[in-house]
Amino acid sequence: MDKRITIAIDGYSSSGKSTFAREIAKELGYIYIDSGAMYRAATLYCIRKGLAGRDVIDIQGIAEAMKEIRIEFVYNPDSGESETYLNSENVEKEIRGLDVSAHVSAISKISEVRTRLVELQKQMGANRGIVMDGRDIGTTVFPDADLKIFMTAPVDIRAKRRYEELKNKGIDASFEEIRNNIVARDITDENRDISPLRRAGDAVILDNSRMSIAGQMEWVRKLIEEKLHDR
Ligand code: C5P
Repeated sequence: MDKRITIAIDGYSSSGKSTFAREIAKELGYIYIDSGAMYRAATLYCIRKGLAGRDVIDIQGIAEAMKEIRIEFVYNPDSGESETYLNSENVEKEIRGLDVSAHVSAISKISEVRTRLVELQKQMGANRGIVMDGRDIGTTVFPDADLKIFMTAPVDIRAKRRYEELKNKGIDASFEEIRNNIVARDITDENRDISPLRRAGDAVILDNSRMSIAGQMEWVRKLIEEKLHDR
């Protein structure tokens, strides 16, 4: 019997989902998938093609473009982390910048974009043993996930975290710009028609405002043990 489980982590922008999900996957020896990176890579492709920009959003063109993109995660032994590849090009740094952040939520509203990426995400999780983070993982991608967590923290704490993270990656942005972007993305993500950001009814809430990553791991281990026991 396959004892491996599926873990879905959703929540607000910069609530620490990726760090937490990556750490859980490492401890369990599971695959970790950052679904936000997939929406970011798709967005980068559309920006480069001139299909999305300050005053442009070519929905028809974007829908067509989804057939041309291939997104992969490749492990980098130097950083010890998986990096995002768009049509064989490493785009890990570029997708984290403010240009992509400014357009990603508008692109993520488009039904053809969601259909394509959700299909890929379901394939990635077909064999269980996966931790995926995003906005609709527990509601749409893996509605039958064994463990669902919904993460949140006050916006100032989230903005400060994102500011530090980008600074460490050498990406230039002011605290104010980052905070505004997080607020704007939360609003768009919560109010879109298809798969809006929502806590699944059976998701456990985690407010990690005052928790270290070690504290979060201690909290989740008990839940994981229960779920493994139930399988
Ligand atoms: O997780 P991250 O902040 O990198 O996600 C970037 C954006 O991608 C989100 O603000 C949201 O618009 C979109 N997204 C989504 N569904 C997901 C993951 C991300 O719509 N499952």
